[in-house]
Parts: sequence; structure tokens; C-alpha cells
Amino acid sequence: MASFSLVEHPHRRHNPLTGEWILVSPHRARRPWLGQVEPQPAEHRPAYDPTCYLCPGNERAGGVRNPAYTGTFVFDNDFPALLADTPPGGTGAEGLLVVEAERGICRVVCFSPRHDLTLPDFDPATLRRVVDTWAEQTEALNARPAIRYVQVFENKGAMMGASNPHPHGQIWATEHLPNEPAKEHTRQLAYRAERGACLLCDYVAVELAREERIVCANDHFVALVPFWAIWPFETMVVSRRHTGGLPSLDGAERDALADILRRLTARYDNLFQISFPYSMGFHQWPAKVTRRAQEAWHLHAHFYPPLLRSASVRKFMVGFEMLGMPQRDLTAEMGAARLRSVGESATARRGADDNG
Ligand SMILES: [Zn+2]
Ligand SMILES: [Zn+2]
Ligand SMILES: [Zn+2]
Repeated sequence: MASFSLVEHPHRRHNPLTGEWILVSPHRARRPWLGQVEPQPAEHRPAYDPTCYLCPGNERAGGVRNPAYTGTFVFDNDFPALLADTPPGGTGAEGLLVVEAERGICRVVCFSPRHDLTLPDFDPATLRRVVDTWAEQTEALNARPAIRYVQVFENKGAMMGASNPHPHGQIWATEHLPNEPAKEHTRQLAYRAERGACLLCDYVAVELAREERIVCANDHFVALVPFWAIWPFETMVVSRRHTGGLPSLDGAERDALADILRRLTARYDNLFQISFPYSMGFHQWPAKVTRRAQEAWHLHAHFYPPLLRSASVRKFMVGFEMLGMPQRDLTAEMGAARLRSVGESATARRGADDNG
């Protein structure tokens, strides 16, 4: 019998950030690559859309009119999932029907007044302004008495349920730590207690030494496909310096974060020559925990794109994945190699659109 190989044999990989396992089936990824890259029909969007509720000067549902904003624009979601004034309460009858009131704030962040642009199209100053807005919002919301966690995220593309193509993200601030950051909180604190070191500092050092899962990097951030990635082209963006939150990034680091986000999202677009859909967001320290707990946190972003082999073939999390555990065929190493093989120019996709 041949000896075990990561590129040939089914195996499971451990995610140290969540403590969960994923199943990898690399033998199935050797099937012929059927998904030819076919440029999609050009999607010509105007710089301003009079029917868009996020464009400057337009009216939103409920009759509020957006200002004629020129940079980023933040407003409280008109249909928020959480309310700041929910009264306290809850029950735990028999320990089975457990309820807790949850307070929170949901905001929308327009990245730019331009309806037709996405992150890879932005110039460095515009993207830096987005990073600054995320940091300011994190700081302001964490200062609220009822808020313990600020989740900054972006859903991009109809495939991810984004209802409007205008470049925008969301910020949900919650009274309790949501599930995913809660798992990472526990794991990072445990790692620090056991080893006296940071989980993600140690992990990035291992990845930088091996290089095979690195997508791109600059002086302050590294974009990589995590060893335990579930989605075909999942990536993480991790700061090189040990720091736990967006507000603690200095000016050079904020410029570098803008740079790596632009380059990574351009690579995504160039992979299948489309405006690539994803859900992305930052994980950062919670508020109202001890300084020691905050110091165990290492700031990072996750990108979860749904596409598998082409612009139209997506990965579904069904069957064994819903009932057992997540599974992937294309290995993390293959995903990283494909993302490294495409360019970082935002014009490549545009070129394809114009020719198609
Ligand atoms: Zn718009
Ligand atoms: Zn660290
Ligand atoms: Zn995370």
C-alpha cells in the first residue's frame, strides 16, 4: 500500500481557530477540469443609478433621503435585524427552551458614491477611507454600553444574497459574542494559555515558511488559503503584526490592508473573469472582556466565495456537509495555486467584458 499523501488520499484537516474538522477528497479533484472560463456578458452599470437606494441623493424605503455623499456613507439599516432598545429579558424553562433578549445595531456602509465600482476598481485613497470607516465604526460601537462585538462584513453578488450591486457592506454590533468569533475567542485564549504564544502569529509564520498556500502579501498583511479552508477559493487576510482590532492599525497598516484587499479581490475577479461573489468579514477582539483576553486576539478577515469551477458552478453545503462535516475536493494548495496564477490588475476583467 502506498504511503499516505495529502495530494492523493482522503483525509481530514483540523481548524485550530474553531476546533472543527473538515474532510478533504483530493483524489476527486483530479477529474478533468470541465469548467472552461467563459467570459460572462458585460454588466454595464451606470456611475449613478436613479433607482438605487444607496446612491447619493436618492430616497430610501421609508422616505429618508441619502445625502450627496462623496466618500463613505454610513447609516442605520432601515430594516434592522437587531434593535438598540430591546428590553432585557429571557427564560430558561427546563434548560431546553432558553431565550435571551438581544440588543444590537445594524448599519450599512456605502464604500463609494460610485454605483458602478467594486473594491478592485477603487483607488488606494478610496479604499483607505473604507478601512478608516470600518475602524471608526468598530471603535464607536464597541464604546456603547450594551455592545460586546462588532461584526464588519460584505456580501457581494446576487449569489450571496446581496440585493443591490452598489458597493457596500454592513456592520452588525451585538450584545453577545456571535458563534464564530466565540469559537475563535475560546481557541485563541486556550492556545495562548497553553503555549504563551499567539495562534495566528504562529500559523502565519508556518505558512510564510512553506509558501504553498500564500496568495499574495505586502509589508503588513498576508493573504492565504487556510490549510483547513472549506470553500474552494476561501482565503484569510492576516496582519503580520500581532494586533487584535481594526482601530489599532496604524496608518501604514491601513494603507497595506487597503492594498491587499484590492489585490486579492482583483485576483478573484480574474479567476473566472467575472465580478466574483463572496461573503467576507473581519474577526477582531470583543469589547467588555479583560485586557488579557483582548491581547490573545489576532485581527484577520475571512473571504468565503461560493464558486467552484466556473462563473456559474457553485459549491453547495448539503447532505453530508449539513449532517456530518464540510467536505472539499480541490485542496487548499490547489486553490492557492490557481489564485496565484492570475493577475492583480482590475482591468483584466473589464477587458474580458468588453471583448465579450
Ligand atoms: Zn447605487
Ligand atoms: Zn498574533
Ligand atoms: Zn476568524
